[in-house]
Amino acid sequence: KKKKLLVEKDRQNVWHHVSPYNKDNPAMVVTEAKGSWITDHNGNRLLDGMSGLWCVNVGYGREELALAAYEQMKQMAYAPMIQSHAPAIELAEKINELLDDDYMIFYSNSGSDANEVAFKIARQYHQQNGESLRYKFISRYRAYHGSSMGALSATGQALRKYKYEPLSSGFLHVAPPDNYRRPAGQSVKEYNLRRAEELEEKIIWEQKETIAGIIMEPLITGGGVLIPHPVYVKKVQEICKRHGVLLIIDEVICGFGRTGKMFGHMHYDSRPDIVTMAKGLTSAYLPLSITAVRKDIYETFKNSEENSHFRHVNTFGGNPAACAVALKNIEIIEQENLVSRAAILGDRLEKELEELKDHPYVGDIRSQGFLMGIELVEDKITKEPALAQRVSKIIGECKVNGLIIGKNGDTVAGYNNILTICPPLSSTDEDLDFIITVVKKVFKQNES
Ligand code: PMP
Repeated sequence: KKKKLLVEKDRQNVWHHVSPYNKDNPAMVVTEAKGSWITDHNGNRLLDGMSGLWCVNVGYGREELALAAYEQMKQMAYAPMIQSHAPAIELAEKINELLDDDYMIFYSNSGSDANEVAFKIARQYHQQNGESLRYKFISRYRAYHGSSMGALSATGQALRKYKYEPLSSGFLHVAPPDNYRRPAGQSVKEYNLRRAEELEEKIIWEQKETIAGIIMEPLITGGGVLIPHPVYVKKVQEICKRHGVLLIIDEVICGFGRTGKMFGHMHYDSRPDIVTMAKGLTSAYLPLSITAVRKDIYETFKNSEENSHFRHVNTFGGNPAACAVALKNIEIIEQENLVSRAAILGDRLEKELEELKDHPYVGDIRSQGFLMGIELVEDKITKEPALAQRVSKIIGECKVNGLIIGKNGDTVAGYNNILTICPPLSSTDEDLDFIITVVKKVFKQNES
């Protein structure tokens, strides 16, 4: 009875992300979470196959992480990053070790924050180099980079933006490679090269001296699991170098193992100028984010003159408890080999679900590491995106069978048809068996 009351109070007082309760999204209060599983107010257990979008990579309920926060808070709960403290110092060193390069680490609280910081640093850097016209950023349609005004401006999903215009000026978009929908007759490689060339054309037409940076995820995660051919990333990197444009890689979801490498950009021989990371740092247990900036960029801010300081104070950024949790989280990822585990689990998921390619409404299945996108279509020849009801029905039936999966896309642009499966990297073989069984069963139920 008490729990029922909780649902009622929630309805009355809590404004949720995305949507209020509706029939596809019935009231659900999570009361417990352990491993890959969450328990709702009715005692139902569900496997959280969408938790990868929140980066709960080590799974729920890890006591080690709770203890790390507790111990740190007892010793020193807070220190502003105007000073410094051991957890922030140790974590910065660890991140450099993982990036296998030499970056300066700027702390904030969320992925949106980390991207805002990247934009500000990039603009100031160019100014300090005497290139004050460089203020524009290019990102890709379908990408998500955050909810604050700058990060939202970089986001390329009309659905999330169109009611909040005007957004920040100076944010431009190009189309990402969407290999499934490439023009007939073009190889994946040719098509990816063409997409990169379009980016270069944009830079040139916009006047290259005005472009500060390009921001992109190694693969578009939330916008529909769009995995580029390696030539695309290589070419984009060359283009950035050629035109003096900074390459900002958003590792908010890809970072910390999801794609089968510690960072997504490590699939390519790339060396970003700036790397942003967030929820994966702590497996989303506490808010923390990082903007990692190449040392030679930082050098231009080191001058002791007041006007070369980077003006960005952030009260919670680099919070000691969050840093302590991040260090422990990374230790778990390393000790439990969760990066290679992501690849192993992902490979098995891909093999087991391969048969869905013959399903009448499955247009494409693609995955990297333990992140899978299943693109649903009405017609396999025309590739017309599946109707919203069809997508919701599959998600709803998975839920009834105890599995939460995600949905991505952009209803305004007409694509809201990509299912996303990304459970914790700590998922057991039995968890994976469960996912495969439910997905196959639900697709079978939806053949007509
Ligand atoms: N970048 C990417 C790629 C993301 O997926 C997200 C959040 N899903 C963000 C940035 C923004 O992160 P936050 O919600 O922590 O602000």
